[in-house]
Amino acid sequence: MCWFEGGIIAGALEKILKKKCLAREISCAGLGDDYCEFEIKFCNKGENCEKIMMENIKNNKK
Ligand SMILES: [Zn+2]
Repeated sequence: MCWFEGGIIAGALEKILKKKCLAREISCAGLGDDYCEFEIKFCNKGENCEKIMMENIKNNKK
């Protein structure tokens, strides 16, 4: 799991877009996938970003 890369991507997007971003990895070369794939979530002001992200993870679980 590449949380480090995810953090860099989210941090860079935050700077560019001036919006809070969260990145989560949905496939990972380190875990046997062909490549690392990140899903980016943009957060609006006042939104509970972490909560939305956790709900997305639950919904996307295979
Ligand atoms: Zn990865």
